[in-house]
Amino acid sequence: MPKGTKYCCEEHVDMAFDDFLLETETFPYMEKSSNQQCSYCMKPAKYVLATEDSSRDVNIKNH
Ligand SMILES: [Zn+2]
Repeated sequence: MPKGTKYCCEEHVDMAFDDFLLETETFPYMEKSSNQQCSYCMKPAKYVLATEDSSRDVNIKNH
């Protein structure tokens, strides 16, 4: 997993954001996620936070 990549459910978006900023000092790039588990609980992750670099291989729709 690339550094700083965080998976989170709806409840833990804020927490994931804070942790991401602390770890990478970069504003996260956010995408919808499926088939992953939240980094903070056992629920399925709704979103993935990553740096622009680590999402470069992904098909980017919002740019
Ligand atoms: Zn969660």
